[in-house]
Amino acid sequence: MTILVATHPAFERHDTGPGHPERPERLMAVRRGLEASGVRDAFVYIEAEPAPLEAIQAVHPGRYVQALSELTAAGGGWIDGDTVVVEESYEAALLAAGAGLDVARRLQAGEADAGFCAIRPPGHHATPTRSMGFCLLNNVAVTARYLASAGDRVLIVDYDAHHGNGTQDVFWADPQVVYVSLHEYPLYPGTGAMDETGDGAGAGATINFPLPAGATGDVYRRAFDEVLAEQLERWKPDWLLLSAGFDGHTRDPLTGLGLAAGDFADMTRWLQRFVPPGRTIAFLEGGYDLEALTNSVASSVAALVDVNTRPEPATSGGPGAHVVDAVLRRRELLMVDPLPKPVAAPTPAPKASPATSADERRGAGEGTTSPASGH
Ligand SMILES: [Zn+2]
Repeated sequence: MTILVATHPAFERHDTGPGHPERPERLMAVRRGLEASGVRDAFVYIEAEPAPLEAIQAVHPGRYVQALSELTAAGGGWIDGDTVVVEESYEAALLAAGAGLDVARRLQAGEADAGFCAIRPPGHHATPTRSMGFCLLNNVAVTARYLASAGDRVLIVDYDAHHGNGTQDVFWADPQVVYVSLHEYPLYPGTGAMDETGDGAGAGATINFPLPAGATGDVYRRAFDEVLAEQLERWKPDWLLLSAGFDGHTRDPLTGLGLAAGDFADMTRWLQRFVPPGRTIAFLEGGYDLEALTNSVASSVAALVDVNTRPEPATSGGPGAHVVDAVLRRRELLMVDPLPKPVAAPTPAPKASPATSADERRGAGEGTTSPASGH
């Protein structure tokens, strides 16, 4: 078995300054996790390459990338209360966005069984036009867009404790990419309510599980078994991209969820059965307790090749089952099951289809309350 591990020394030169939780030491903790995974012999390390501008602009159009380049070239500074850049941050952002593209191409060529992108800055809060929440470019979205534009069906599962508002925005009306997020709610950035389910041709293709603080692994399992399994078996995603944030760990200083390393491994294993072999890529997102990060990476990376490494067991007994049940009832009542039919490549602009009136009515209503960026 072979796991591509994409990383780059430049990620540690994205220096967020003293006291910032999203700090270079996180990648050292990730490396310790890789070492402790029990599958070191499976690793093939690749040095990330910068994403081509064209691939980035398929997610971040207009002047956004240029503005980021200019800000960093001028020495950087704070973009918002959480997000700060230095001169070296631009290179790190391009490399973080490019890591997944390289891994995806190598998996397409049959070079490995799975991929893990040990990258920073993280990406899932970055909207098409805005950096926020420690994120500059939306790394997982750049790879998802690349794969979807070639006609593949892409499943993104985001188990970071925060809602991936940026990823949701990018694929809000896209039937080719299903975005599933399990996150603590309410919590930064404030989006990810149950009624945020996509719009237009992508109506129903966004699935949010806004979980209460304290939620444990059995709640996640319930979400996969009760809501996702049947739909994904029918939708048959070609790819699984994991927004692998480990800040849902019970020891994380920024969040209140109740997960442990064993839960992240379980999620990886459950989800991989929905895609063909060699079609899973994990992208590092959050995770701010270094020991929790080490253990969680060790466990999850081993799970990519179905090896059971458990520095901490899975958890159960926390609250949140009622949220899963409500998501299921809501989808049944609104008749948004099954997931929308993907369109042929290339992905067209979202447009209303007269054939799916129930979905469209729902989508139109939700468009008025769509989670605009800016939380
Ligand atoms: Zn997070």
